Amino acid sequence: METLTQLPVFNNTQNAFAYKSNQELHRSYWLFRLINSPLLVKISTSLAQWAFNWHLPVTPLVKYTIYHQFCSGETLQESQPVIDRLLQYGVKSLLDYGVEAKETDADFDQTIAQLLKSIEFARNKNAIPAISTKITGFARFALLEKVSAQTPLTPAEQEEWNRVQNRMHTLCKAAQAAQMSIYFDAEESWIQDAIDRLVNDMMEQYNRPFPVAFTTLQMYRHDRMEFLEKLFAYAQEKGFFPAVKLVRGAYMEKERNRAEEMGYPSPIQPDKEAADRDFNRALQFCIEHSNQIAVCNASHNENSAAYLCRLMQENNIPHNHPNVWFAQLYGMGDHISFNLAKEGYNVAKYLPYGPVREVIPYLIRRSQENTSVSGQMSRELGLLQQETRRRKTKQ
Ligand SMILES: Cc1cc2nc3c(=O)[nH]c(=O)nc-3n(C[C@H](O)[C@H](O)[C@H](O)COP(=O)(O)OP(=O)(O)OC[C@H]3O[C@@H](n4cnc5c(N)ncnc54)[C@H](O)[C@@H]3O)c2cc1C
Repeated sequence: METLTQLPVFNNTQNAFAYKSNQELHRSYWLFRLINSPLLVKISTSLAQWAFNWHLPVTPLVKYTIYHQFCSGETLQESQPVIDRLLQYGVKSLLDYGVEAKETDADFDQTIAQLLKSIEFARNKNAIPAISTKITGFARFALLEKVSAQTPLTPAEQEEWNRVQNRMHTLCKAAQAAQMSIYFDAEESWIQDAIDRLVNDMMEQYNRPFPVAFTTLQMYRHDRMEFLEKLFAYAQEKGFFPAVKLVRGAYMEKERNRAEEMGYPSPIQPDKEAADRDFNRALQFCIEHSNQIAVCNASHNENSAAYLCRLMQENNIPHNHPNVWFAQLYGMGDHISFNLAKEGYNVAKYLPYGPVREVIPYLIRRSQENTSVSGQMSRELGLLQQETRRRKTKQ
């Protein structure tokens, strides 16, 4: 039996940042220093929003700084050099059209058209095993909420719901034909039941023989382990291939505040330890059934990555087993992605792309999340600093 010391070492910054030039490394370092300050983040995000609202010419500044750190380009063609560069280091790309929170049918159709383009772009490209999307990019939030609450729909809403289902089928059919997967994000719990219904239906219909649709499980919810076990049992019964992306969850404070305001029990685990415990249990469950379920460990937590590596080792699962993936966001967690890829694990970066103006909400979330996820920022910053020093001493 191999020991833990042979598992990937995540503090190898030479591997982690080999894909960055000195100038890019420097830019990342200063950007993370800025993001590390909640006050500066608050001021700069307000300024950026104000400037965009007033149509001031700030696009080049945003593009050169935060946009390039977290997004691959405004178009698929502009993203190609990033995709190529990641692949040189064994890291694949999950295309993520960064447009969100749309409300009209015209916008939804536009999102679907763009997602179909990205599926077409990815066809036959080993570098892009999947695309990712948020269902709120092509379904009205209030409708998802109503379906989740099981409130009867009006005839017009029923037609709207049918259109959402048709959009899901259009996407999954295209992905199946291109032999690739679609990762559907998990969102707020009060629209998640509708999302689960949609994605479960897609898995049942299209995940044969390979996983086309991936559902996302937020392990900060106390009911997701049970959800996973039920999904697996149902898939066994119906003969389809379940596929799950595991995350901890991005809306914790919003969830807790809403539950408190509206007086219902919070869907969130009592503490971080409970969320971590269920995250690990879910990883273990998937690895124990690794020939019957596909799993993606979508996290910037080094312990979770190391734990999955250990589980694979203990269960004699090869590093590049097609059903086991690791994913991080582009611009973050490079020490995990590139060190794992070097050891031959399946690793993909979420690659948001799209017009600067459209991805602003995503960028604001990234910078705000970075200031709030404790410890992660200083870890990123420390690693960038370590690599800068290493390169200087080598010169
Ligand atoms: C590739 C990728 C895809 C993602 N897709 C989605 C998605 O579809 N939907 C989504 O919601 N999020 C998504 N996320 C974000 C994710 O849910 C986390 O918010 C983020 O990754 C931080 O968690 P971590 O595992 O990386 O790190 P960690 O630092 O280990 O965990 C931080 C997370 O732990 C949880 N947590 C913290 N404190 C507590 C507490 N007191 N009680 C309970 N839980 C607590 C919260 O979820 C917090 O975000 C994605 C992340 C990645 C990397």
